[in-house]
Order: sequence, then C-alpha cells, then structure tokens
Amino acid sequence: MIITFLGTGCMVPTKERNTAGVLITYKNENILLDCGEGTQRQLIIAGIKPTKITKILISHWHGDHVFGLPGLIQTLGASEYSGKLKIFGPKGTEKKFRNLFENLDIEITIDYDIKDISKEIFFENKEFRLEALNLNHGLPCLGFNFVQKDVRKIIMSKIKKLGIKQGPKIGKLQRGDSIKHKGKIIKSNQVSRIIQGKKITYIADTELCDNCIKLAENADILISESVYDSTHKDKAREYKHLTSRQAGLIANQAGVKKLVLTHFSQRYKNTQSIEEDARTVFDNIICAKDFMKINIT
Ligand SMILES: [Zn+2]
Ligand SMILES: [Zn+2]
Repeated sequence: MIITFLGTGCMVPTKERNTAGVLITYKNENILLDCGEGTQRQLIIAGIKPTKITKILISHWHGDHVFGLPGLIQTLGASEYSGKLKIFGPKGTEKKFRNLFENLDIEITIDYDIKDISKEIFFENKEFRLEALNLNHGLPCLGFNFVQKDVRKIIMSKIKKLGIKQGPKIGKLQRGDSIKHKGKIIKSNQVSRIIQGKKITYIADTELCDNCIKLAENADILISESVYDSTHKDKAREYKHLTSRQAGLIANQAGVKKLVLTHFSQRYKNTQSIEEDARTVFDNIICAKDFMKINIT
C-alpha cells in the first residue's frame, strides 16, 4: 500500500505546495482523496497515470478540494478511460458535480457513478472498506477511513511438516475452517496466523470535534489537516480548521501510530513551528511534502 501526497498546501497553492490531493494505491485500486486544482498534473509528475484512478472521495466542496475535478474528468474522457469511476462525497455532491459540468458545458464521456455518502461504511469489498464520518467545517464535510481487512496467512512450513498437499484442504484452512487429515482434526489457527489490516485515516478541514477521534481510532496512519500552528489558534477557530497541536491531540487520544500533517497555510515558509507545536502532545509526526510517498507493508 502506498500513500502519495499530491498537494500539501491549503487554499492558495505555492511554488512548493499544490492544493489538496492524496492518493492511496492498494493492489489495482487508486483512490484519490480530494482533487484540488492541478491534481492531474501532480499525478503525472508523480509518475501515476490519471487513468489508473478508480475512486475519488471528496471531503467537501471548497475550491481547494474540488477545482481539479473538471480537468481530471475531461482528461480521463480523452484518454479512453476504460473503468467505471466511482465518486463519493458529502450531501449535495451529486447535484453539485452535475451542475458544475452542465454549467461548463462539458460532456462527461466516461462511465462513472456518483453518490452522496449517507452511511458510515459506504464501500466494501473482500479486501477493504471505506468509512466516512461528518466533520465540523461550516458546510457538509467528511473525514475518511481506508480500512484493509485482516488476512489469514498459511504457515507453509507447518503445512509441509504435517504432510498436507496443495489442494482444497489448504483452501479450507485459508478460509478459517478445520480439516480432517490422517485421522486427525487440524484447526486453521494451528497452521495459520492473522495479519491485521492497516487503517489510514484522512481528516480534511474541520474544527476539533469528537468524530475526529472516533474516525482516527487506532489508525496506523492519520493524515490530518494542520492549517495553522497554535500561535494562530484564533484564526483556526474562526475558519473552523485544526491547529497542528489539535491534530497531535487527536492522534494522541485516538491511539494513532503515526501522524502526517498536511494542508499548511501559505504563510509558513517551512513547517518547523507546525511540527514543534504538534510534538508538544504527540511524538511520531512528519510534515508532508508534495510528492512524498509512504509505503505501508
Ligand atoms: Zn481546505
Ligand atoms: Zn475547507
């Protein structure tokens, strides 16, 4: 699993930082979290073909999170996008999306499906699920979880020792069932172990609220907005954003393993004060940069 940071700036892009965009790559899935202006070019620079995108999750309809949509969708149409793009967002997303393209007079030529998210688990397959909770940002706004499901791994050395041959018996053990072998019952957990799935949480723009902690509970990686450090906490309150210290508090209270701060105001020439502010309450922190990748194994 790879997380690619496509845009780590806030409302106004800078030379170093584009507007919001994070990509989660997992097997054949490329899930784009927010799509600020210029996201398609960021993808290209990062060496990722835009046509590889399978899902787009929109946190909220502020420009720095959605202005990249028309360009990206048009490019997919011109590139013979062969999949079915799934787009999810908060209440009003479907209407806003259709109105946007209608007003621009752009015909959407790709196969796609767009949905307003109305329940916590809004997508699930055998390998992972996607969850959303409401955040407080003054308009419908969601935070997201990507939760990889636990997998059972057969310990081949034990299988060999017992003399179990490749075939349906191993399939049964893999599914967690017991088998009968040489007159004995072999339980699945005697020859396998569970590998816990990873959890990535994305907290987009919000003020501090209970759902931030609920969403991030026990996450392996928490990607959190961190527009200001605490010296600008009044501004953070006024615009319903988090300070980096508050992002640290969420990570601390939710039992997160690693906190990645992003979405910095253009006022910060470097992230030293942001990082120090968060570090007063949480240790394992990094500040994201555009094109930074995190490999999760
Ligand atoms: Zn924003
Ligand atoms: Zn916003």
